[in-house]
This record gives sequence, structure tokens and C-alpha cells, in this order.
Amino acid sequence: MGVQAAERVQQLQRAAQIIDGHFDLLMDVEIQRSRGRKRVIETDYLPAFEQGGVKTIVAAIFVDNEFLPEMGLRKALNQISAMHEEALESSDKIMLCKTMEDLNTAREQGKVAFILSLEGAEPLSNDLSLLRIFYELGVRLLGLVWSRRNYVGDGSFFSPVREGKKGGITDFGVRLIEEAEAMGMIIDVSHLNDEGFWDVMEIAKKPVIASHSNCRSLANSMRNLTDEQIKALAVRNGVIGMNANNFFTADSDEEANVNSLLNHVDYIAKLVGAEHVGLGLDLCDDFMKYVSPESLKHAPRKPFDVVKGHQSVPQLTTGLVERGYTDEQIEGILGKNFERVYQDVWK
Ligand SMILES: [Zn+2]
Repeated sequence: MGVQAAERVQQLQRAAQIIDGHFDLLMDVEIQRSRGRKRVIETDYLPAFEQGGVKTIVAAIFVDNEFLPEMGLRKALNQISAMHEEALESSDKIMLCKTMEDLNTAREQGKVAFILSLEGAEPLSNDLSLLRIFYELGVRLLGLVWSRRNYVGDGSFFSPVREGKKGGITDFGVRLIEEAEAMGMIIDVSHLNDEGFWDVMEIAKKPVIASHSNCRSLANSMRNLTDEQIKALAVRNGVIGMNANNFFTADSDEEANVNSLLNHVDYIAKLVGAEHVGLGLDLCDDFMKYVSPESLKHAPRKPFDVVKGHQSVPQLTTGLVERGYTDEQIEGILGKNFERVYQDVWK
């Protein structure tokens, strides 16, 4: 890369409001805090965010299977509590944001902004009245399902499992989507099965996102989106966040790298336009400490991140420059496109 291009990358890294649209750090933060630690985000995460120029993190609230159903609500609240405590303890460095105004304030003050997102509606169980509570606590994005079945619908598994016929969105799910949109929450279809996806396209009236999904044409996983699904999200002015997990990046580990991840950006940009691409990196390498080696022993592929930590985000910016995107397109992909959806849907 020439000097000029390198300068452009640096300039973009400084100017772009880089958003990672999906990061599962709260599960870890909550566990660390339960062991007595404080300022976990500031200590363990902030240096990488700063190094990589990442200014906004969508923090997912994820409840693992072992806690469901009874502990779903409790675990979600534990994680939200951890986020609020951390924001207070490190109030000079991070900020929990609930509005566009909050986001702008965080930026003006040079703080990393956090936005809460539910990864699966399990914590609500079948009680719609809890949605308001989560909204008041700061949840602004609603991932309907994780890779399992819940009261809303069916998730798409990572690889085929033995099960009966799948369904679409339930009657509870229809009401949940309508209520969430009316409240100002963004609907997120990542992890949803195909049947559910197309139901959401009928039900939702506002822009819908897939926070951390890639193209099925390039990596054949049910977690990725078909061309028709990408088009349907684009028609509704939605955004698709690029997922840096090897499974969703390429069909073989040898091919899974930053370059092949950028191929997904190119693919969507060609199909519907770069204004529908964002980042939802879903970085998991640091959380593998919670996955038992036994559970992976027979897996054909082991999960890994093709982007090595948030400090490596400049590699993506570099790749976008090299692939000929304009500054405007790159700033969009790095954050402004997701921000457009926040603007459209949030109250
Ligand atoms: Zn996920």
C-alpha cells in the first residue's frame, strides 16, 4: 500500500464512527464481576477498542442453554446490571447510550458508546409486559431468537440437528415485533430460520437488521443470508453486519481470513449497495475459555475469528480502501449505515 492510501486509512480510522454491531462481552463481564472484579470493560476490553478505533459497541445480552428456561430473565438482568455498574465505574471512559443524543454526547466526550441488544427473546419468556422493562433499562435492539426455539420462533442451527418440522413466527412473536417497533426497538433477524425471516418481512414496518450474518452464496451456513433475503432487507433500508467467525466467512478454514470476509462486503455491495453493509464482528476467541474442549472434540471445524481482536479492525479499513470503496462508502460500512437505522427506528 502506498503512502497516500496508508494516510487515507489513518484518516478514516480517526474520522469514522466505527460501530461493532455485535459483541458478546457482557456474558464474560458478568462472570468476571461475580468473581469480585470491577471495571472489567475498562481493563480487559477498552485498550483493544481504542487501538482499533472502535467507538461504539453493541453489547449483546446472551443467555446460554444451561440457564433456560428458569434463569433466563435473571441472567439477562445480571448482565444488564453489570453493564450499568461498569458504565458508572468507568464513567469517564465509557457510556451506556439509549438515544442518538446519547451517542453524540459519548463521541463529543471521547467515550466508547455502548448500546444494549437482546440476543434472543428468551428473557421475556411469553410475557410481553416485560418488554417495557428491558426498554427502560436501555435495550434498543431485539434479536428475536438465538440458534434454538423460543416463544417467538425457531432459530437456525449452526449445523443440522435431529428435529421435527420447523415453524415461522408465533402469535406471540407477531405481537412482540409490533410492540418492539412501536416502542422504538430495532428488530434483528440474525439466527432466525428462513421461515421466520420471511414472516418478519411481512410483519415489520420499520428497517430490519441482521446484526451478525454474512452471505450464504459465499459461505454455506443457515446462519448466513440468501441473495433474496439480502435484497428484502435492503428494500426495507436495513443493514447486514459482517460476521468475522470462520464458519460464516468461508466453507473451509484455509479460506477463512480477512480477505474472504471482505468478499462478503463486495458481494452485498454489488447485489444491493454498500449502504446496506455494516460490521457485526461477533468476536469470540476471547470467550473460548468458557467452551469445554470436550464439546468441540468431535466438531468438524473449530470456531475462530478471522479478525484478531478489535485492535485489528484497521485491517478491514485497509482492505476497503484497497478494494476501491469511497470514503463515504467506507464510513457507512464502518458505522454510519447502522446509525441510519438507529435514526430511523429509535424514538
Ligand atoms: Zn450470535
